[in-house]
Amino acid sequence: MPLHEKRLAEIREMLDDDVYASTDLSQSMPKYHFPGSEQAPKDVYSAVRDELMLDGNSRQNLATFCQTLAEPELHELMDLCMDKNMVDKDEYPQTAEIESRCVHMLADLWNSPSSESTVGCSTVGSSEAAMLGGMAMKRAWEDKRKATNQPYDKPNMVCGPVQVCWHKFARYWDIEIREIPMEKNRLIMTPEEVVKRCDENTIGVVPTLGVTFTCQYEPVKAVSEALDQLEKEKGLDIRIHVDGASGGFLAPFCAPDLEWDFRLPRVKSINTSGHKFGLSPLGVGWVIWRDVSDLPEELIFWVNYLGGNMRDIGLNFSRPGGQIICQYYNFLRLGREGYRRIHTSCYDTAKYLSGEIAKLGPFEIMYDGEMSEGIPALCWKMKEGVDPGFSLYDFADRLRARGWQVPAYALPANCSELPIQRILVRHGVSRDLGSLLLGDMKAALEYFKNHPIAVPVTPAEASGFHH
Ligand SMILES: *Cc1c(COP(=O)(O)O)cnc(C)c1O
Repeated sequence: MPLHEKRLAEIREMLDDDVYASTDLSQSMPKYHFPGSEQAPKDVYSAVRDELMLDGNSRQNLATFCQTLAEPELHELMDLCMDKNMVDKDEYPQTAEIESRCVHMLADLWNSPSSESTVGCSTVGSSEAAMLGGMAMKRAWEDKRKATNQPYDKPNMVCGPVQVCWHKFARYWDIEIREIPMEKNRLIMTPEEVVKRCDENTIGVVPTLGVTFTCQYEPVKAVSEALDQLEKEKGLDIRIHVDGASGGFLAPFCAPDLEWDFRLPRVKSINTSGHKFGLSPLGVGWVIWRDVSDLPEELIFWVNYLGGNMRDIGLNFSRPGGQIICQYYNFLRLGREGYRRIHTSCYDTAKYLSGEIAKLGPFEIMYDGEMSEGIPALCWKMKEGVDPGFSLYDFADRLRARGWQVPAYALPANCSELPIQRILVRHGVSRDLGSLLLGDMKAALEYFKNHPIAVPVTPAEASGFHH
């Protein structure tokens, strides 16, 4: 390049050019080969930010259980904590201390008999927390079998329609999963169905407090009582781990009389997702054991901490700390009262939407967001014997044109022919936002009336592109 042209290019660089007029953004960014040269931060930032627009607007994503609204203070704390590594307990002792306070606060929230002898830890989410809770169940069962010289090579677990993390747990650790299939008139576990599947090789029973598919609470107390009876009759002492991914942060505030937690002695461990109804940014879950004796010693690693020793339980080494600090912020900021107020308004909106969606005509509400029965959400199916000229998949697709993500999906076995549609009402899904959605639903129905779908999408086809 001749010298004067080079100088001109330098001058142009110094002027704060319009990013989109810059040479960098007039060419497309490398996609799959590793880039050779450097580029200006503002150009790359604009390109990446713009591409992210295509993800859609998370506040209109009514499919996710995860938090999509954050106070400015949470952004500030996340920024402050960018460099906090949870594994370095000795280097970031205050972060470790705050994590430990959260464990005790959760134990208290879940009515632990003694928040002193409780143990637990933060995780990346409920998936990892479930893995740890599951491993503890398996190890405790093995220890019991070994102590009495009995074989321990055929472990099984009993559950209702579980989230995929339990399928992973079962597959990764070679455990037979005895998942109670759904029936048309029974979408969650019952004590009878649980007990039928239990035997001497059952490492534990896993009820879900807020089933992913239909959002209902499984009957933990009734299952616990049935297991007490089983112990009396057959001498089998089977522990319970509750998957409280959603419910763990809902029931204590909105259904305090529901006994599902450590009030039941058989409940030995509980997991929850801080980034769901715990209202923290993505990347935090929790697992808590009732008593230190419920966590087999083999799963604990001891790490150095301020010259002393601290338990380290978990699958990761390095792990970000911001989400955990934000969890603590939320506990202090909201308290029981704040969580109750926020979640109660979500339940109210869920009830309102259920009532209005039922009035639209073709839909039958299956769960309407009743506080004592499940999480703030609703789901519906097509009324039986009605052919409105479109499927729920078509309906979901039509709503997507206005940015709403309201997924339609088929239920698991034995209801895989039954598509349903679900809305999660989270913090920030206001009555107003709900009304806007209802308006778009009405417009969609009107559209299908005038333009019926010739060949509606079937569950089998849809299973290829939804989960
Ligand atoms: C979301 C969810 C999980 C998985 O939790 P993550 O925090 O996303 O890892 C497990 N179980 C249930 C019931 C859930 O709703």
